[in-house]
Amino acid sequence: MKRTTLGFIGGVALTAGAFALSPKAQFLAGGAMANAAYRMQDHLHDYDLEHKDATPEQVWAEFKSQNEMAAKVRETFPRTAYHPVVAMLVCMDARIDTNELVGDTRRNYYVVRTAGSAMSAKEEEMLELAVNNGVKLIVLTRHSDCAAEKAAKNPEARAKYPALVAAVDERDQKIAEFLARPAIAERIASGKLIVKQLDIDTANEHLAEHSNAAPVEHAAAPSEEHGH
Ligand SMILES: [Zn+2]
Repeated sequence: MKRTTLGFIGGVALTAGAFALSPKAQFLAGGAMANAAYRMQDHLHDYDLEHKDATPEQVWAEFKSQNEMAAKVRETFPRTAYHPVVAMLVCMDARIDTNELVGDTRRNYYVVRTAGSAMSAKEEEMLELAVNNGVKLIVLTRHSDCAAEKAAKNPEARAKYPALVAAVDERDQKIAEFLARPAIAERIASGKLIVKQLDIDTANEHLAEHSNAAPVEHAAAPSEEHGH
């Protein structure tokens, strides 16, 4: 029997064993296995799409074949549908893995990803739509070592990418605009929605309250914890 087949059977046996555990233990065991999977793939520099001498056609062929493999697995093991109560705005930077940010692989989160975490009217509307679909917490993030923020500080890049830097320049203004939308402001005031502005440390994905964030007036909810 091939080694990969043995590995697969081992994985299935391990998964079956994990279902005998409590939900919390299953969640943690799943997290540990997901982390093991990340570690197994992470160092494979010669086997990836950024292989230096690959042509765009080769990159596209590899992209397609990896999707075909993944889609076959998903066909065999369909995933459960979730109804997210959290929506996140995150920069498109590839170093940030939103599953890792939340320690959860279940897609239990709406994720909006834009250059520099900048919102335009359509992202504001999308987040409001998510709130109408049951979201109770919105997390607006930005992150260290952000290419979009660097472009906004560089005169040459400012000339070259005017739309991008304008979006970064207007970021705080758009957040204020979003918070003032009647549907959002009303929910915040009545304690049905919390909006947090957080900074992501790109190196380790640690989250901290954004230091320059204007305070949002939340209704006093007894369950809300303060401090960090
Ligand atoms: Zn960024």
